[in-house]
Amino acid sequence: MQEKVKQKILIADDERFNLNVLVDILKPDYQIIVAKDGKQVIKRAESNPPELILLDVMMPEMDGYETCKKLKENEQTKDIPVIFITAMKEACNEARGFDLGAVDYITKPFQAAAIIARVKVHLKMKWQTDMLRKMASIDTLTEIPNRQKFEEIFDKEWDRAVRNKNPLSIAFMDIDFFKQYNDTYGHGRGDKCLKEVAHVLADSIRRPTDFVARYGGEEFIAVLPETDIFGAMAIADVLRRNVELLKIPHAQSVPLDYVTISIGVSSVFPSGGFSDSALISIVATADEMLYKAKAGGRNQVRCR
Ligand code: GH3
Ligand code: MG
Ligand code: MG
Repeated sequence: MQEKVKQKILIADDERFNLNVLVDILKPDYQIIVAKDGKQVIKRAESNPPELILLDVMMPEMDGYETCKKLKENEQTKDIPVIFITAMKEACNEARGFDLGAVDYITKPFQAAAIIARVKVHLKMKWQTDMLRKMASIDTLTEIPNRQKFEEIFDKEWDRAVRNKNPLSIAFMDIDFFKQYNDTYGHGRGDKCLKEVAHVLADSIRRPTDFVARYGGEEFIAVLPETDIFGAMAIADVLRRNVELLKIPHAQSVPLDYVTISIGVSSVFPSGGFSDSALISIVATADEMLYKAKAGGRNQVRCR
């Protein structure tokens, strides 16, 4: 029988004895990572993200509050729930912990059963939050990322491209004569076709930072970081060809009797500015190029 993967908990305390007490309580049910100061917490949370962090407040150099603040400011670690463990009982300290974004506050001395119960509750909430976030970013029909996720990814990649002075490209794709496909084969087959096209597009991208989403209807979009116009045209043509190779029959389509896509490509060297306006203009250019690909006979890639 396959063993269930244990959830990871990072426990931080500068006193070895305290650390061992917590480790002994939680070790039977969870995978434990330990840290002896704030710096180690941040480093380990970044390199091997846990599902939960138990943080001692009183630590030398960087205390628990400061560590928590840094975790919450860091894009990679901000969503990991933090529970403070401390000997200080004053209400004002508790409030400070919650203000910094902690989810719970446990005061020493504690009972093992209480620790176990609270850890369980917070891990469950974390799992549910992650699940909701994941569901909100996936298109229900095709099960590939949706437009909302595309906008989030574009935003991140735009900032990265500005920082590293790299080009950024997008490919805007649209199935040819899809209205006729639905009219000829029915909406059910139309849905199935959308799924197949979505999967072949998602499977065709090779680099881990390349990204494909369903933009809406029968439109898809790819984000191609660190890719100039020549690279983007080459990738777009692979995407176009792989859809053609599916050979999904489409009697009403021209120039082939198969389902095909047209693609508009747009590329920029971001020099700064807001990603929102960049997004509007890069999508508008790609859309213009898509229109040219349609007008030019479909099943082709165009760029400016
Ligand atoms: P063109 O080659 O110019 O792109 O023509 P087209 O027929 O593909 O374009 P048009 O915009 O006229 O039609 C798009 C069609 O896509 C119409 C709409 O019913 C269909 N469509 C959009 N979303 C879905 C969906 O989720 N499922 C199905 N089955 N069809 C969809
Ligand atoms: Mg369309
Ligand atoms: Mg279309």
